[in-house]
Amino acid sequence: MSYTSCLPAWSVGPDCYQDVFATARRFGKTAAVIGGKTALSKAYEPLKAALAGSEFTLSQPIWYGGNSTYEHAGALEQLPEVQQADMIFAVGGGRAIDTCKAVAQHLDKPLFTFPTIASNCAACTAIGVFYNADDTFCDYFYPTRCPEHTFINTRIIAEAPESLLWAGIGDALSKECEVELASRGKDLFHTTLLGTMLAHTCTEPLLNYGATAMQQCRENTPGTELEQVALAIVISTGLVSNLTTDPTKYYYNSSLAHCVYYGATMLPASGGKHLHGEIVSFGVLTLLTWDGQLEQRDRVLRFNRSIKLPVTLAEIGMAEADLQTVADKAATVLEWTKAPRPVTKEAFMQAMRDADAAGRALLAAEA
Ligand SMILES: [Zn+2]
Repeated sequence: MSYTSCLPAWSVGPDCYQDVFATARRFGKTAAVIGGKTALSKAYEPLKAALAGSEFTLSQPIWYGGNSTYEHAGALEQLPEVQQADMIFAVGGGRAIDTCKAVAQHLDKPLFTFPTIASNCAACTAIGVFYNADDTFCDYFYPTRCPEHTFINTRIIAEAPESLLWAGIGDALSKECEVELASRGKDLFHTTLLGTMLAHTCTEPLLNYGATAMQQCRENTPGTELEQVALAIVISTGLVSNLTTDPTKYYYNSSLAHCVYYGATMLPASGGKHLHGEIVSFGVLTLLTWDGQLEQRDRVLRFNRSIKLPVTLAEIGMAEADLQTVADKAATVLEWTKAPRPVTKEAFMQAMRDADAAGRALLAAEA
């Protein structure tokens, strides 16, 4: 069996759009610029300025439609300025970029991504999450390769709402421990071995630089720490996702931390109110507790507390009476099976209780 692997390439920094021409020119001379409204308002002019004086031309900003649906992708594919462009520039957060993955694939054009928030790794992965018109989940879209190149403009990321970075940190905290748990004891081949090793680079930058990065985002100042954290969220986790996920053959990309999130979606006061990454960060505490990694659990606990990510059930809108509902739902998702030994609902609920107790003890010690 032969196969092809594609890895992300990236540029980062407050002036990284200066490298767009050198990177994109071999693919042609025109780009359709598609994205979210706020994202386009932040990124379009800097992009245009960076390309001024070159022979490269951009379309006018094109709104992607507001959600990653196949209807919006289809409508974009009909636009002459999109059809005639040599390549697609996707600007924005996960949904705008994912929409462009379908557009680029269907029109067989190269895709370049310009994330304007550091909230997830959509900008460099070979997967898109698609929704129905009523915002319910539709399916995963698998393009044949990841985007050609990702430009992380830290000046724009620093100006984005800090809550998005905050939740992005919470979600990215799950990558290392989930991949390690899901792949432990498994027979790994080249690709998955690379992915599981790279997973070990995801957590430390978040713990070391997360608090300062949050401060830089609050103050709109793109410093080294924000850059390191943005790279961990957008690139490191994306590399790992690409290398540990195959639509049909293997999946080591996620585990029990996300089970807590899926369980929370059953509760209006939890999944309905709190951000994905916020709940996942409590899921990380649950996973580490379930696995007996209490020293690391307590490190993450103190970190969570330092940037006000949740350390208790109450902070994610959950009570003892909800745990059975959470566990019942969690036990139905694929991630439930991604552990080296069988997970029982009782042990899962107990891990949530124990993580909550440790969090409450930390809060009590502060008082
Ligand atoms: Zn997640």
